[in-house]
Amino acid sequence: MLPGLSFADAESDYDDADVCLYGIPYDHTACFRAGAREGPAAIRRCSYNFEQIHFEHGLDKTKLNVFDYGDCDDFILPEDMIDEVKFVMGPAIEDKKFTIAMGGDHSGNIPIIQCFKNKDIALISVDAHLDSRDTYMGVKNSHACITRRASEYLGIDNVFVLGVRSISQEELEIKDQIHYIDAYSIHDNGMEWAIKQAMDTVKNEKIYITVDMDGIDPAFAPGTGTPEPFGLHPLDVKKLINMASDRLVGFDIMEVCPPADPTGITSILAARYIKEVMAVYGQKLKR
Ligand code: MN
Ligand code: MN
Repeated sequence: MLPGLSFADAESDYDDADVCLYGIPYDHTACFRAGAREGPAAIRRCSYNFEQIHFEHGLDKTKLNVFDYGDCDDFILPEDMIDEVKFVMGPAIEDKKFTIAMGGDHSGNIPIIQCFKNKDIALISVDAHLDSRDTYMGVKNSHACITRRASEYLGIDNVFVLGVRSISQEELEIKDQIHYIDAYSIHDNGMEWAIKQAMDTVKNEKIYITVDMDGIDPAFAPGTGTPEPFGLHPLDVKKLINMASDRLVGFDIMEVCPPADPTGITSILAARYIKEVMAVYGQKLKR
């Protein structure tokens, strides 16, 4: 990518890369307010806000080779987006690169999970919503169906959702089969407790984290497609990244909606989470 348009310090080519970054500027399944297609560009811009040295993890940028592919092509139909993401990210995942994706609406997570051909990962999702509908508005690969698709692919015991505080009638009927912890229990018992539950419950050792920005409280992250009050604290996701770091094999951050983010704080937070993931992954490589 051209300098200035790529994520800060993403100066590696693909072959030498430890971490590969991808934008998925897709929001055609958004239902309340659209605009997440502008997420990747806004997050990349905000990545220049931060120092190269990581305050807590002491990581120098030269220790990690980061490649920014740019954006997957934008399509109208969800099936076309799915094919494109698989085509673009599939080879990197086969090559055992650590991938980080920026959305885009949450449907962008569906093809990424399906790129893990051995099905040997578990998905931990941070989300205000269960996203466990079978279809939504006639669409199977909708942002409202991502944990359902992941459960079909990885098995229901390899999917866990943290921060839930919204449910549909369809999900109410199947909620006892889904592993999740609601936002209120996390407020009462602490995020560390919830993360331990999630990490102990899932069967597979490798963990992939997807963060739907609406999992965070809208006071901290107002710029999302479907904001939901009483959400998680920004530090809660940082704790998840840190506690899961030894088992982490991939990460995505979805549903950043810049038109609904007048101060840009939501994109800043998203960029900061990516920096956090890079820092802990860099530390893991050093060991
Ligand atoms: Mn959500
Ligand atoms: Mn979601």
